[in-house]
Amino acid sequence: MRTITLSNGKTVEVECLSCALTSGLIEPDGGIVVETEHFHAHQDVAYPIKGLIILASKRHVTCLDELTEMEKLDYIHVLSKIRKAQRDVLGIEHVYYFYNEDTTHHFHTWMVPRYDWMYVFGRSIESVRPVLLHARKEMNDAKNLEDVMGALSLLTDELNT
Ligand SMILES: [Zn+2]
Repeated sequence: MRTITLSNGKTVEVECLSCALTSGLIEPDGGIVVETEHFHAHQDVAYPIKGLIILASKRHVTCLDELTEMEKLDYIHVLSKIRKAQRDVLGIEHVYYFYNEDTTHHFHTWMVPRYDWMYVFGRSIESVRPVLLHARKEMNDAKNLEDVMGALSLLTDELNT
């Protein structure tokens, strides 16, 4: 079991955070952005960046080649649908995608939008950790959190109509 501290300060004990989120045991802050038969998307609860979405499989697998054919099709379809919504309603021009198989959670892809403020931390993969830490440490103010939640509800509306 692992103890996870959520952005709202609450702690939960779970075997796998992705299972806890996709099964509904933990309600992600801001709710579910979109859900399909095999996947579940929510705002990253740890980093307050507008449009930063985690797309997780509902099944507890860790590697891409463990997905079934149906899951693979569902994955690329919903991933690109979320990507389009990020562009259409949030004006996000570029997104970084991260997914590591040696995770303590299960199969999930981070969709990290690029904003102009991020370029002071560099470009490409080496900038990502500093960007996320900056967001967590310096952007947890009420105004930014309101913006993040506003962006989230725009994305959710776009993806569920
Ligand atoms: Zn799991």
